Amino acid sequence: MAITHKRILLKISGEVLMGPQSFGIDLPTVERVAEEVIAAKATGAEIALVIGGGNIFRGMAGAAKGMDRVSADHMGIMATIMNALAMQGVLSSKGVDTRVLSAIAMPTVCETYAAGKGIHHLEQGRVVICAGGTGLPFFTTDTGAALRAAELRCSALFKGTSVDGVYAADPKKVPDAKRYKTITYKDVLAQDLKIMDNAAIALARDNGIPVVVFSIREAGNVARVLNGQGTFTTITKD
Ligand code: UDP
Repeated sequence: MAITHKRILLKISGEVLMGPQSFGIDLPTVERVAEEVIAAKATGAEIALVIGGGNIFRGMAGAAKGMDRVSADHMGIMATIMNALAMQGVLSSKGVDTRVLSAIAMPTVCETYAAGKGIHHLEQGRVVICAGGTGLPFFTTDTGAALRAAELRCSALFKGTSVDGVYAADPKKVPDAKRYKTITYKDVLAQDLKIMDNAAIALARDNGIPVVVFSIREAGNVARVLNGQGTFTTITKD
């Protein structure tokens, strides 16, 4: 079966890695997500990952308690690097050649992000984990994911969430809310649907990168969606 995209950027929020815990990294869950990545790679697609940090630290939460926002965001950025290292460890233990490229230079820990390096690793069949978001405070890893998708010439941004697509209203609160098969960037922004932050949607729109929203909680779903099957919503220009 022909896959829908040859190279994707898969965004996973940090909260996914908490599993049943209320904080931090749940290793069995990292293992499960790693299996998703392995299955996705087995379709023949090249996979770049961006992992959030919300399971460990969010800058806004720190700032709300009186911390300096820039320092708090730097801590959030560090959290994303911790998650990236956890994922790399698990993927490597499963025999997957993986590189962490960090937006913040940490030469004794991992490589520093550069688009050319990322593309090279992808071409070599390695999983590339882009850590540290954009590397800049006041941004999110969603925006980092859209940025890296553009830089690494990915043909889609896969956003793994806890629901199976984009709904007109929160399906957890409105059980019969309509799920879109496709929706435009414009409508996502106009209806303030909060799938990703507006900067991320705008960056995807400006670079013509479709955003595919699907549930990361269902086993085998990344590969399924790559094969054009299963339930998902595509955010595109029309
Ligand atoms: N962060 C940042 N710049 C970035 C990406 C992340 O400052 O480009 C910080 C920010 O404080 C954010 C935290 O890292 O709250 C964790 O990232 P995010 O909230 O995007 O993680 P997710 O919600 O996907 O788990």
